[in-house]
Amino acid sequence: MSKLFKRDLALIVAIILAALALWGASALFKKEGESVEVRLRGELYAVLPLNKNAELDVEGLCTVVVEDGETYVKSSTCRNKLCENHRPISRAGETVACLPNGVTVTVKKEGGADFYV
Ligand SMILES: [Zn+2]
Repeated sequence: MSKLFKRDLALIVAIILAALALWGASALFKKEGESVEVRLRGELYAVLPLNKNAELDVEGLCTVVVEDGETYVKSSTCRNKLCENHRPISRAGETVACLPNGVTVTVKKEGGADFYV
């Protein structure tokens, strides 16, 4: 094996590793497989897929919207409107809560892979 060839081989391996790293990173940021868990006074009320647009009315208290991989409280009957003013959430573990109405909206990771940054 010539020295030049070895160097080229090392370069090719480096490129492949970089490509794999990029692919792995994009897989980590994928929204697929994540779901939105809506709870009413601690009880599970509904589970919605995060990758499918939807609008859910929670007992006339709140309207929860799933849109383009994000979820947020569109409207609520509560007085302080903290839930409505909360930015849309999209990552596993994030929560929007409407404390006066006892409604929580949490993004959950489905499946066994629980590694995320
Ligand atoms: Zn609220």
